[in-house]
Amino acid sequence: MALIVQKFGGSSVRDRERIFNVARIVAKTRRAGNDVVVVVSAQGDTTDDLIEKAKEITHNPSAREMDMLLATGEQISISLLAMALSELGCQAISLTGWQAGFRTDRAYTKARITRLETERISSELERNRVVVVAGFQGMNKMDDITTLGRGGSDTSAVAIAAALHADRCQIFTDVEGVYTADPRKVRNTRKLNEISFDEMLELASLGAQVLNNRSVELAKKYNVELEVLSSLNPVPGTLVKEVANDMEGMLIKGVAKDTDVAVVSILNVPDEPGMSFKIFGLLAQKNINVDIILQSTGRDGKKDVIFTCSEGDANLAVRVLKETAHFSQVSASSEFAKVSIVGAGMQSHSGVAAGMFEALSNSNINIHMISTSEIKISCIIDKDKADQAVAAIHDMLFQ
Ligand code: ADP
Ligand code: ASP
Ligand code: MG
Repeated sequence: MALIVQKFGGSSVRDRERIFNVARIVAKTRRAGNDVVVVVSAQGDTTDDLIEKAKEITHNPSAREMDMLLATGEQISISLLAMALSELGCQAISLTGWQAGFRTDRAYTKARITRLETERISSELERNRVVVVAGFQGMNKMDDITTLGRGGSDTSAVAIAAALHADRCQIFTDVEGVYTADPRKVRNTRKLNEISFDEMLELASLGAQVLNNRSVELAKKYNVELEVLSSLNPVPGTLVKEVANDMEGMLIKGVAKDTDVAVVSILNVPDEPGMSFKIFGLLAQKNINVDIILQSTGRDGKKDVIFTCSEGDANLAVRVLKETAHFSQVSASSEFAKVSIVGAGMQSHSGVAAGMFEALSNSNINIHMISTSEIKISCIIDKDKADQAVAAIHDMLFQ
């Protein structure tokens, strides 16, 4: 008997019909003789709606209360799915994240899993029940509810698969797998049969929301092979694994965009030792995650330092750089986006970057910053050109 973890995202459980669709998939897996743990997200746009509800009350809610609020979404889905499974004659029990044993650190709204106590899930499986677990949720040392960050149900599923040494971890969603770009927004995308953890981690971190990046990080750490597939169309999906078979020899696996980008500029910084440490040490202390950093060459004893971070962190960055580090010319702008290409094959091939730049040039799109690693190239461009840029780069590299 195999143990299978199946995760269903919000669109897969958005209404009665979709819940019964999921229940049929789960019941079929169970009837084939498998133990099944199911992880579900909140229905449809519930999490977004809850965030809006909070905004009706305050623009500055406490993170603890946000977690208390957001965790309710998943609780609705688990109970409804457990009921639907019983209707189909399949024994099931729903468990919240904390009942399922998710212990986290205290970072409300972006908590990290510190431990997963699997006794309850295991004992329910022994009682021949399908266990339906609320994704996205945990509990910290103070017995407060925490959530794992947007898209965190993927991480819950991978954590359960890792802790229980599951034979399979299936991530069901509303597209048929991982594509060369968002298939809802870009023409002529191709579904990938397989992709490596490293490439998927980059794609997810650079904006391809089909998998949450922390879930891929965890899958790589514990070597949990993932299968991304559609809950609506039973066709083979994409395997995410340590070493992907690359039958087609694709140099590039995908194009992604991230519009949550702010560019912070500090002008006329003294050109002397210790300045970068002063700036980025301070930002690190404030838990601000910096992405791309540019520094101009010094002239007249001064230089400019420019970096990107998320829009949500930009105001705090400007404030601490002005008030604590006493830089006078600091500003932030959110009019930017990051477009990226990812592929392990580019390490050993020349001309890939040139292809990306040519596509942007042909579309008359200006590049403000560039960053590269062995398996990705990112360009910061104007936000209103992001979709056009992704389409142009995809056309150029996948024609
Ligand atoms: P779920 O609710 O199942 O967690 P998400 O909305 O979080 O689903 O993620 C699925 C969506 O990710 C798809 O509907 C698709 O629009 C988007 N997406 C972005 N990039 C990609 C990609 N490269 N491959 C597949 N889907 C992608
Ligand atoms: N419901 C949460 C969200 O919308 C978690 C998830 O869907 O994975 O982000
Ligand atoms: Mg998701």
